[in-house]
Amino acid sequence: MNEYDSNRILDLTRKINYNLTKNIQEADCYILNTCHIREKATEKVYHEIGRVKKEFRTKKKPIILIAGCVAQAEGEVLLEKEKYIDAVIGPQSYHEINRIILDRENKDKKINSTEFDVIEKFDQLNLVKNSSNKISSFLTIQEGCDKFCKFCVVPYTRGPEYSRSSAEILSEAKQLVENGVKEIILLGQNVNAYSFKNLKLSNLLYSLNEIKDLERIRYTTSHPKDFTNDLIDAHEECEKLMPLLHLPVQSGSTKILKNMNRNHSIEEYLETIEKLKKKKPTIKFSSDFIIAYPGETKSDFEQTVLLMKQIEFINSYSFTFSARPGTPAANLKKIDDKTAKERLFIFQRVADEVKKKYRKELVHSNAKVLFENNARGPNTFFGRDEFFNSVIVNSNENLIGKIKKVKIQSCNQNTLFGEVVLKDKPKECAA
Ligand code: SAM
Ligand code: SF4
Repeated sequence: MNEYDSNRILDLTRKINYNLTKNIQEADCYILNTCHIREKATEKVYHEIGRVKKEFRTKKKPIILIAGCVAQAEGEVLLEKEKYIDAVIGPQSYHEINRIILDRENKDKKINSTEFDVIEKFDQLNLVKNSSNKISSFLTIQEGCDKFCKFCVVPYTRGPEYSRSSAEILSEAKQLVENGVKEIILLGQNVNAYSFKNLKLSNLLYSLNEIKDLERIRYTTSHPKDFTNDLIDAHEECEKLMPLLHLPVQSGSTKILKNMNRNHSIEEYLETIEKLKKKKPTIKFSSDFIIAYPGETKSDFEQTVLLMKQIEFINSYSFTFSARPGTPAANLKKIDDKTAKERLFIFQRVADEVKKKYRKELVHSNAKVLFENNARGPNTFFGRDEFFNSVIVNSNENLIGKIKKVKIQSCNQNTLFGEVVLKDKPKECAA
C-alpha cells in the first residue's frame, strides 16, 4: 500500500511542478514514506534522516517530509526530536502534501498533518490521474481496519475501515489500462471487507473482469473472517482472477487465534480453503504468520508448523511477535527471545522445504508468464506466472507487456528460469 501511496503522492506533487529524481543530491524535497507494522520503524527514520543530512552537509537542505504510519504514530515526537524534519503527514492526510510543501517553501511553521480525513483524501486523489504505466499496478480500494487484532497498529495508524466508491475504482482501473497496465492488484488492509452501498469485493472483481485489455486481477490482503461465498464463487467465475490467494492465518492454534482476537477458528479457516479448492482446483495459497505470540505453548507452535505442512503455502511471511506500543498485546508477557527465535527458525525451515518441493515440481512444466520489465540486460526479461512466481527468460523478442507460455528449466529459492515456448512450426507438405 505504501508503494501505491508513494506513486499517488508523486502524481499530486507533479501539480506543483515537482518531479521524481533518482539523484538524491538534486532533491528539493525529500519524502520518506514509512511503515510502522514491526519494531525499529522509528529508528529507521532517524537513521535515514542522518544519511540525508550527510548528503546535504555542504548544501541547502531539501524540504524533509515524513509520511505514512510512523508519521501518524510518532508525529509530534519526530518533529521534536529531529529538527531536520519539516513536516509529518499521516496516511490519511497526504492530499495536503502540496499545501505543506508550498508552506515550507515559504518557511512557515513546522507542520503536523495527521488527521484521519480519508474521504477528503480520495476526493482529492480522484482529481489527479493515476500515471502508473507499469505492467502490473496497485489500486487501493479500501483502507483502514475495524478488526483490532490485539497485536496490530493498523487500526490506530490507518484509522477505521473505509471503502472507495466502485465508480471511482473502475474509472481509475480504466485509466491504468489506458496507460498500458495489464495486471491490477486491488489493495486494502482488509480488502475483502470492501463494502460500498450494496457492492462487495466480488462485484468489483466481476466488473474488472469485463475490462478489455486488462489481463490479470489479484487482490490483497484478505481476512479469513470476511471470506464470503460470493467471493469464493468469483474465483471460479472470473477467469482473469489469478489462482493465488494470500490469506493470512497468523497461527495454527485456535486458542492463539482467539487470544489475538482474529475471530475465527482453524477449522473455519480450513473450511474456507476447502471451499476455494473445490471451486478452483488449481488455487494455491500464501500466508502471514506470527511466531511466539504471548501465551503460545510448544503445542500451539506445533499446530502452526502442522498447518504449514498441511496447506503447503507456496509463500509465507513469518516474524516473531513484535510488541507495538499502544496495542493490547504490548502489555502481555512476552515469550523469551531465545525460544521465539528458535521457533521462528524451525518454522522457516519447514516453510522453505515446502517451497523448495513446490518449486522443484515446477521445473519442466509450462507456465503462463506476464512479462513486466528487463531483468539483467536488454535480452533478459522478468515476469510473473499465474501464482506470482518470478520468472526470468532470455529472448530476442521484446516481451514486455506480453503473456507467454514458458517452459521452466531451473529454479532457485526466489526465481524460476525458463525459455519461451515457440508456437509449433507449420508442418512442411510432403512433395
Ligand atoms: N489485514 C491483514 C490480516 O489481518 O490478515 C494483515 C495486514 S498486516 C498490515 C500484515 C501482517 O503483519 C500481518 O498479517 C501480521 O502477520 C504482521 N504483523 C502485524 N502486526 C505484527 C506484530 N505486532 N508482530 C509481528 N507481526 C505483525
Ligand atoms: Fe491488523 Fe489485519 Fe488485524 Fe486489521 S485485520 S488489526 S490490519 S492484522
